[in-house]
Amino acid sequence: MIKTGEKAEVGVIGGSGLYDPAILEDVKEIKVYTPYGPPSDFVALGTLKGVRVAFLPRHGRMHRIPPHMINYRANIWALKELGVDRLISVSAVGSLREEYKPGDFVCPDQFIDMTKNRNYTFFDGHTVAHISMADPFCPELRTLCSFTAKKLGIEIHEKGVYVCIEGPRFSTRAESRLWRQFGADIIGMTLVPEVNLAREAGMCFVNIAMVTDYDVWAERPVTAHEVARVMAENVEKVKKLLYELIPAIPKVRHCECSKFLSEALL
Ligand SMILES: [Zn+2]
Repeated sequence: MIKTGEKAEVGVIGGSGLYDPAILEDVKEIKVYTPYGPPSDFVALGTLKGVRVAFLPRHGRMHRIPPHMINYRANIWALKELGVDRLISVSAVGSLREEYKPGDFVCPDQFIDMTKNRNYTFFDGHTVAHISMADPFCPELRTLCSFTAKKLGIEIHEKGVYVCIEGPRFSTRAESRLWRQFGADIIGMTLVPEVNLAREAGMCFVNIAMVTDYDVWAERPVTAHEVARVMAENVEKVKKLLYELIPAIPKVRHCECSKFLSEALL
C-alpha cells in the first residue's frame, strides 16, 4: 500500500550511467511490491522545483541487470502505483547514421522492435488489449524535451527511429547494415517493452536517447576509453536537461496518451 506522501507526478527511468537521482531534493527510497515481482531497484522519491519525481535505475544501481532480464512490467507497474503519469526514459544508444554523432541526444518519434523474448503486455489473457502504437511517444513531452534541450545548447535530433534489439550481445556487421536499410537511426536494447507498457498504463512517455558511439556498420573502431568519456559527458548533460524539463511539464495533459487503453480493450 502506497502512502499519500509517497506519490509522484513525473517518473524518470535512468539508463546506463544514470543511476542516482542527484538532481532531486529530500530523497526517500522506497520498496514497491508489484504483481510481477520486484522492480530493478528501490524507487527514489524526491522533489525538483516543487514537482514530485520518482526515479528508478533501469539496470539497478550497480548495473547488474542486463537488458533482456529487466523486469519491465514491475518497473512500469511500480511507477504507476506511485501515481506517475508522465514518464521520461533515458537511455544510451549506438548510432546508425553519420549525422547522429556521439554526444548528440535524440528524441525518437518511432521505433522498430527486434526483441525476441520479453513480456510485452499487462494483458496476458482474460482481458485482451491491442494498444495503438502508430505514434508511440507523447507529442507534448517530445516537443517540450527538444525545445528545452535546444535552449540549453544541447545538440538534439527532434526525430529518430530507434531499433530495439534483444541483446545482450551487440549486432553483427550484417545486422547493423540491415537496421540501416530498415530506416533505423539509432540502436539500443531497452526501449521495448518499456514504451508499450507505459502506454498500456496510460502514461505519457518520452525517450531521451544519448548517442555513445557509432554501431559496427561504420567500421570505425572506438576505444572503451572514448565510450566512457562520451557517456560521462552525456550523463552531465542529461541531468541539466532533466533539471529544466521536469518543472516545465504542464500540470494538465494536452495529449491523447491517457485514452489509448480504453480504445484498445476488446
Ligand atoms: Zn502524453
